[in-house]
Amino acid sequence: MEENSNFIKTIIKEDLESGKRDKVVTRFPPEPNGYLHIGHAKSIVINFGLADEFGGRTNLRFDDTNPLKEDQEFVDAIKEDVEWLGYEWEGLFYASDYFDEMYDRAVLLIKKGLAYVDDLSADEIREYRGTLSEPGKESPYRGRSVEENLELFEKMRNGEFANGEKVLRAKIDMSSPNINLRDPVIYRISHATHHNTGDKWCIYPMYAFAHPIEDALEGVTHSLCTTEFEDQRPLYDWVVRECEMEATPQQIEFGRLNLTNTVMSKRKLKQLVEEGYVDGWDDPRLPTISGLRRRGFTPDAIREFVKAAGVSKGYSTVDAQMLEHFVREDLKLKAPRTMGVLRPLKIVITNYPEGEVEWLDADINPENPEMGTRKIPFSREIYVEQDDFMENPPAKYFRLFPGNEVRLKHAYFIKCNEVIKDENGEVVELRCTYDVETKSGSGFTGRKVKGTLHWVDATHALPAEFRLYEPLILDSEEDEAEEADTKSFLDYVNEKSLEIVNGYIEPNMEDAKPQDKFQFFRHGYFNVDPKHTTEDKKVFNRIVSLKSSFKL
Ligand code: ATP
Ligand code: MG
Ligand code: MG
Repeated sequence: MEENSNFIKTIIKEDLESGKRDKVVTRFPPEPNGYLHIGHAKSIVINFGLADEFGGRTNLRFDDTNPLKEDQEFVDAIKEDVEWLGYEWEGLFYASDYFDEMYDRAVLLIKKGLAYVDDLSADEIREYRGTLSEPGKESPYRGRSVEENLELFEKMRNGEFANGEKVLRAKIDMSSPNINLRDPVIYRISHATHHNTGDKWCIYPMYAFAHPIEDALEGVTHSLCTTEFEDQRPLYDWVVRECEMEATPQQIEFGRLNLTNTVMSKRKLKQLVEEGYVDGWDDPRLPTISGLRRRGFTPDAIREFVKAAGVSKGYSTVDAQMLEHFVREDLKLKAPRTMGVLRPLKIVITNYPEGEVEWLDADINPENPEMGTRKIPFSREIYVEQDDFMENPPAKYFRLFPGNEVRLKHAYFIKCNEVIKDENGEVVELRCTYDVETKSGSGFTGRKVKGTLHWVDATHALPAEFRLYEPLILDSEEDEAEEADTKSFLDYVNEKSLEIVNGYIEPNMEDAKPQDKFQFFRHGYFNVDPKHTTEDKKVFNRIVSLKSSFKL
């Protein structure tokens, strides 16, 4: 976060200078009900980044107050993702560790006459709450005595009521212009087993009550959240004050990050995973951190992207190409160059001696010469890309066609002399000749060719699978369509978002490990897929192609 100033940084600076605060403590509070996505990365970068910058600390806190949706799988995945992004938390906490404390604070509110047990149903409560233009109506149970409320709340805790039979509400102001202050529910009954506390509790605190208490108990100074909580800030402050918390955290809101051509809400991501549209939460097409990792995005690229997207109050939908820009930048000097043929077409070089092999030298990364050189074999049979040959090419086609000569990267010029077809008329092989004088690095200047092709040697090449991706969601208007209830976001899922092709790679790729990243000449950056790669066949996920029209 160091480079750019932003409004949160300004507030923190002022707080430290004025002596309002003597330190900075933040927290990242995910609910363990799904995997983290790139939007969460924004929150992580802001929370950890700001604390780091001011010598403070950041807690990782699982906001696990809803027993039904939370799971250990998600807890583990979240920890892995935060660490992978390059951050270290100070304390690791669970909101559920504070259930006793929260219960005591709720009892304190009851004793102060600031909370009551209500028998209205959820629907009635909603109806009584009123609207922006019309004040709320008081519940007939609002006037219960402190004693009665204490007794009923204890019975709620002891499991004497069914789900939904009663709730505990804060007693604030049924005519407040802020609907959040019209006696919000702060505890509800849920007879459910919790992933952390098991069956100890059958009442659970609501987020708006729990969150400020969690922050205060941890000594959080700046509680950073997204703008949909702006209207809850008065309630946040009310809870801190009336529950008589020692620390006084301050809630500050920033805008959510969104990307084009994808979905970000956990509900939608979950649906894509559970209904089999994708291959798990870590599917390389998803904007989850684990999906981006499997696709081949790097922590550096994600952090730089999030910083460049900026911290403002506004809700921003950022072009996914901007994320791609940052991964290209990051991999440019780091990723070894290699050649791979995705859709192979065989070439026999008829004037090359049968049985002979030569090992050519090639740069590992011409932009970073320190990475050295690699050896690639060349012999009588090679593969090139099917797309690099046309029998009847249009004008300005500089690749292979009958009679044309091209350069093979790191090797020789070859000339296409003959086209072999199968019984269906499909081109299955080309017969070419090479010119020994034209060897790469020999300084040959006798004549020029316009096309340079990648290739692999047919006898030494290793088989490989390539997975090519397109955006998962076709239209970024899916949100509006869903809001208008005309269509589901599932109607916008791109059926062609994954294409799998089988080809060949250089033999020196033998040792490539899952998550290793390469730039395949002319094809883009690829990552070795950790899920589908086997002993016999490596699987490569295309991270991004080489070119983009995107400019920062
Ligand atoms: P979702 O609506 O996708 O379920 P959430 O906000 O409920 O997301 P949490 O697990 O509660 O998910 O989020 C943890 C933290 O990350 C919160 O502070 C939340 O505000 C922040 N966060 C979540 N999504 C985004 C986003 N798209 N941009 C920025 N911050 C986000
Ligand atoms: Mg949340
Ligand atoms: Mg949520």
